[in-house]
Amino acid sequence: HKVAVIVPFRNRSEHLNHWLYYLHPVLMRQQLDYGVYVINQDGDGAFNRAKLMNIGFNESLKEYDYDCFAFSDVDLVPIDDRNLYRCSDHPRHLSVAVDKFNYILSSKTAFGGVSLLTQQQFLKVNGFSNTFWGWGGEDDDLYNRIIHRGMSITRPDAQIAKYKMIKHGRDLHNEVNPENAVKTQKTAENIDTDGLNSLNFTVKEIMKDVLYTLISVDVRSP
Ligand code: UDP
Ligand code: MN
Repeated sequence: HKVAVIVPFRNRSEHLNHWLYYLHPVLMRQQLDYGVYVINQDGDGAFNRAKLMNIGFNESLKEYDYDCFAFSDVDLVPIDDRNLYRCSDHPRHLSVAVDKFNYILSSKTAFGGVSLLTQQQFLKVNGFSNTFWGWGGEDDDLYNRIIHRGMSITRPDAQIAKYKMIKHGRDLHNEVNPENAVKTQKTAENIDTDGLNSLNFTVKEIMKDVLYTLISVDVRSP
């Protein structure tokens, strides 16, 4: 399994250090052929988690022939090695039981936190939407895309898919955006024209560390 782990990022260095410290040993024990790509949003415009994921997909493929993409928040640390960072026949949601939510899945359609898609699955849904600025909705929109394209999602057992979320408040410039909830009702209208095929961004810097590749990008916030 050639897995690119894509981490959306801005101003969470402490979380990133924790994440790297805990995740590398897990991923190594899982015997994956993997690379970690931290996609840093340059500037202080509205955060766009989904667009950073799309950029990570594109940029990682320039480096290596990855066939599986693990999209992971920087603050989610798995606590059971059996929770495999591998793709399957359907898009897969890994962060099922998170301590912050008392280890209870919020809804059957939840797809945020940590999710995995093969290259083929991700292309089939045209990636994430690029237009979810601020907090919320982009994960639900991706779920809708998956269903719209005739796929379904799978999850590991909740006993295994347990996570700790590093404690944090809401970041600056990532406020809840009420427009996002409205947009999730319009996935079918947008999927063909908004996604990987409409992605625009500028790479500002690529920094190669031993443990990860940091790619700083201008996402062209409105
Ligand atoms: N994030 C970040 N900097 C920010 C906002 C978000 O690095 O200023 C990234 C980070 O990976 C984070 C993810 O986006 O884990 C999702 O944001 P958040 O953790 O606030 O979402 P929630 O905990 O509510 O799911
Ligand atoms: Mn979080």
